[in-house]
Parts: sequence; structure tokens; C-alpha cells
Amino acid sequence: MRNTQIRLAQRPVGAPDQSTFTVAHSDLRELAEGEVLLAVRWLSLDPYMRGRLSTAKSYAAPVEIGEVMVGSTVAQVLQSRYDGLSEGDWVLSYSGWQTYAIEQGRQVRRIDPDHAPVTTALGVLGMPGMTAYWGLLEIGRPQPGETVVVAAATGPVGSAVGQIARIKGARAVGIAGGPEKCRVLTEEFGFDVAIDHRAPDFAEQLKAATPDGIDVDFENVGGQVFSAVERRLNVGARVALCGLVANYNDTAPPPGPDRLPAFLSKVLTRSILVQGFIVDTVKVAKQTDFLTEMPQWIAEGRLRYREDVVEGLDNAPAAFAGLLRGDYTGKLLIKVS
Ligand code: NDP
Repeated sequence: MRNTQIRLAQRPVGAPDQSTFTVAHSDLRELAEGEVLLAVRWLSLDPYMRGRLSTAKSYAAPVEIGEVMVGSTVAQVLQSRYDGLSEGDWVLSYSGWQTYAIEQGRQVRRIDPDHAPVTTALGVLGMPGMTAYWGLLEIGRPQPGETVVVAAATGPVGSAVGQIARIKGARAVGIAGGPEKCRVLTEEFGFDVAIDHRAPDFAEQLKAATPDGIDVDFENVGGQVFSAVERRLNVGARVALCGLVANYNDTAPPPGPDRLPAFLSKVLTRSILVQGFIVDTVKVAKQTDFLTEMPQWIAEGRLRYREDVVEGLDNAPAAFAGLLRGDYTGKLLIKVS
């Protein structure tokens, strides 16, 4: 059988594009004891992948030039030499940007297609959903009546943050790029207010939307959005620092005055908690009620999710560049086969 892989061709300077990646074909070898052959059905594209293209010091090793791009996948077992898995089983694996993969059976997790659509293991019931749940409830700790702000708010992390905030009785203010995404926030995800960060009067709109200030900032974006949000933080506010997607393609520090001293002064005098975190999915699954509460909220119609599907592995490089630009609304998935 022939495998198709998308490998890293060169490290991008700025935004990734087609020249960042190359397509390679190879024959698959025989399975060894304990291994499974997987047909990748779904590939998740996520903003963290931009970090894997860079050699800058980070919490995870970069993808080397010539290596297959990493990524979470939902796959089906085609052949098994592992006792715990049989042909046809659905699994969650970290097989990356390829059509087939050989994995150790013990390193993949079986998923039940009757429990929930298999794609949700990459989104609302997977890593992004866990990120929202843990970061909001453990760091943000929204109280009834408080104001929670989140940007990249239609995406898999932000949409869950806003909806969980409302389940906990807080007011959810969503920030997104463009009027259509803002419509999705209020009409589909039930945010109290939606604000377009591309609007020229964005900061004034944010001020009007947060008359009592901001108690919880679930920070997905950084950049200009954070500059406006941090000005509105209340005494005792919590900032769950989850992502800085506005800066991922940066090649130089942002222009303008250094706002760090003023921000640190505010953190001090307003007793603000700022905590960064990298989600630990094993910990969330074992130490929180995520696996019971999230499916229950979905079943009750209190938590909705949205998926954007791009057909074909060949389209992954262009889709990934689009993800960082804000071209997609919901959880971005590549339908591999
Ligand atoms: P999304 O699917 O929401 O995609 C990213 C979105 O970021 C875009 O759609 C765009 O939305 C927004 N965006 C991009 N550039 C800018 C900009 N300059 N200003 C404002 N918004 C911008 O992503 P996810 O939901 O998967 O992830 C959200 C964040 O969470 C990311 O920063 C990601 O890295 C982080 N993350 C962190 C984890 C952790 O463990 N700490 C785990 C998972 C995700 P729009 O068009 O609305 O502006």
C-alpha cells in the first residue's frame, strides 16, 4: 500500500504557505507485534502547529525538516497485531498529516462512534474542548453575574469558553473577526454580546459591552485585542492565558510603545491573576468532570459546536495558512479519506 505524507520542506518566515510543505509517497512496511495499521480519516488542524514549524524554544520539540507534520487524527484500524484493537475500530491517534500510519496499539485510544460523532474527539470533546473547560473553570473561575471575555470566539476553544461561562451564570462577551462570525456568536452560540475586532471603533465597542469591567479574560489572541481587553480588567480579575495567535507569524516585536510596565503595574495594583497554561489532556480527563459534563451539556442543547471540513489531505497546507488568518469559523478538520 502507498502512503501519502505531507512533510515539512522549510521553516516559514512569517505566515506558512505551500512552499513550507512538500508531498511525499512511500510504501508501507509489514506490521510488527503490538502495532496497528491505521487509515487516517480525519486530521485536526490547530494553531499550535505554527509553533512546531519553528526552532524557537517551546514546550514541545519542533518538527524537523523532512519529517511528517504532526497532528491529532481520527483513524480506523485496517490491520491489527495488538490484542486490544480489531479491524474497523475507530481510534484517536497522533498520526499527523498522512493517509496511513503504523502505530503502537497501546499509544492510540479507542473511540466509540455510537457515543458521539468521531470528529468530536478532535474538537469539543477533545483537546480544544478540554482547553476551554480547564482554563475557564480552573483559572478563570467565573462567578454568576461576572463578565467573561474571549476572542477567537467562534473557534473550538472560544465557543466552548463562552458557552460554559453562560452555563456558570456569567455574562459572555465574544470577540471575533467580521460581522458574520459575530452573528454566529450571538445567534448560534448564545453569547450575550459579540464584537468585531476589525471594526475601527473596536475598543469603544468593548468598553460599551463591558460596563462593569472584565472579571475573566480567557486570552486566546494577544496583540491589539489584548491591549483593549487589559484596560478593562477589574480588581481581582483572572486572565487565563491560553494562546497568542495574533503573534504566531510575527517576525519582529510589534511596533509602538512598550506597554509592559503599565500592564504589570495594573496587575500589581488591581490584584490581577495572570496564569498561562498548556492543557494536559490526561489530567483533564482524569481529574475533572469534563468527560461527564461536556457530553451532558451537548445532549441538553446547552453547548453547541461547529466544524469546518476541508476535503483532501492535499489541501491541508492552504487550510492551515487560512486557519491562522481567521478564514474558518468552527473547528477546522481535514477529511483525509
Ligand atoms: P481557532 O480555530 O479559533 O483559530 C484561530 C482564530 O484566531 C482565527 O479563526 C481568528 O479568529 C483568530 N485570530 C487570528 N489572528 C488574529 C488576530 N491578529 N487578532 C485577533 N484574532 C485573531 O483556534 P482554536 O480555538 O483552536 O485555538 C484558540 C487559541 O487557543 C489559539 O491561540 C491556540 O493556540 C490556543 N490553544 C491553546 C492551548 C493550550 O493548551 N494553551 C490548547 C489549544 C489551543 P477571528 O477571525 O475571529 O479573529
